[in-house]
Amino acid sequence: MTEVAGIRRRYVERTGRSLELWRGFSDVLVDGSTRSLAYYAPHPVVIVSGRGAHVTDADDNSYFDLLNNYTALVHGNAHPALTEAAASVMGSGTVFPAPHVLQARHAGMIRERIEGTEVVRYTNSGTEAAMLAVRVARAATGRDIIAKARYGYHGSFDGLAPNFGGGSVRADPGVPRVTAEALRVFEFNDSADMERICCEVGSDLAAIVLEPVLGSGGAVPATGEFMADARRLSDELGALLILDEVQTFRLDHGGMQAVLGVRSDLTVLGKLIGGGFPIGALAGPRHLLEVLSVGSPRHMKHAGTFNGNLVSMAAGIRAMELLGPDAISRLNSGGEALASSTRSALASSGLPGTVTGYGSMFNVHIGAEVGTVRTGSETTAQDQALMELFHLALLNEGVFAAPRGFFNTSTVLSDEDLETVAGALKQALASVVEETAGERR
Ligand code: PMP
Repeated sequence: MTEVAGIRRRYVERTGRSLELWRGFSDVLVDGSTRSLAYYAPHPVVIVSGRGAHVTDADDNSYFDLLNNYTALVHGNAHPALTEAAASVMGSGTVFPAPHVLQARHAGMIRERIEGTEVVRYTNSGTEAAMLAVRVARAATGRDIIAKARYGYHGSFDGLAPNFGGGSVRADPGVPRVTAEALRVFEFNDSADMERICCEVGSDLAAIVLEPVLGSGGAVPATGEFMADARRLSDELGALLILDEVQTFRLDHGGMQAVLGVRSDLTVLGKLIGGGFPIGALAGPRHLLEVLSVGSPRHMKHAGTFNGNLVSMAAGIRAMELLGPDAISRLNSGGEALASSTRSALASSGLPGTVTGYGSMFNVHIGAEVGTVRTGSETTAQDQALMELFHLALLNEGVFAAPRGFFNTSTVLSDEDLETVAGALKQALASVVEETAGERR
């Protein structure tokens, strides 16, 4: 283990100030942070600033940002146009319990992109938007049960059980019992399993909820066939198909549903549409979202103090304006090139594993049991010790990515940046190989 300690030792040496600060934070914050994903051993780096394609930690180390707040910062950090858009509204009030032109403009942009969208309702996070989608589906169908994919992540709430193996790569033992009663789980990309589970529920099924590419579950794209089966099954059973495009909206002008050729009944959005500020949105046809209308005989109340706040609206509009088809195509090419060079580097490193993903999102899975990662379940087969070393090695090489091996590109990464990052990823893999060769032999 002395060699294995090398990567970690170097990491600890480089991040002394982060450790000191983080220890202090832990006095008042659980794990010294505010989200499960922000903690990793031996201690997380404390990021003090971000600009463009880089973030800087408390020890003044600079990193290429290949996480972009888990895909939300599609234009990188502190993009001048987005900062300016946010600042432009700040001096005249940030949120009112009243309608506003920016909300209508933002919603119009979503409607223009996602087929079948007539109206939009805003929330403050993707989690809330997914919660709302479930409520609307139940109200619209008069049914109770929701079916979702194992490892599908739709936010931190019990109704869609993020912990059915979805929060990260491991199942969480603390799933509340109540969840299991209204929720059924099937394997992603396994049409037969989905059909079996959904048909068992039959006329009690309110909705099938799916990510078109598993995000937390390991950047695993759905096949077109699986999505078509989800659509057909929903129609046959009179249930709704809810697509969660909180992450995948960045992958195509019409969202990943346009790529896969599937039409959702309701679409859950978040992250990038807030331009770096908190947001969630539920988009769909008027006849389904009508239950939220005060004038509807079946009116279901939906409130939220900061829904449609103007900072998120203004920055979000700008973020979408800057993400036209050409920008998306460049973004995806960059991600694909990086995924491809990483795949080659992994193959020639001798480490067991694979790289999954689509366009600007990809995930490196290292482990002898990883397999081809088609259903997402295989991410549980990642070798946690190797993944942890790889992540720390990436940080040592100046790349900020997710501990589970998830990467995504931003529009501000230049071709030269991407080449540098590709070299850093290769070097990180090489240092893992070098330090574990003896153990793996
Ligand atoms: N759905 C998906 C697919 C997500 O990736 C996330 C966030 N990672 C959410 C929902 C929840 O969004 P938020 O973190 O804004 O609550």
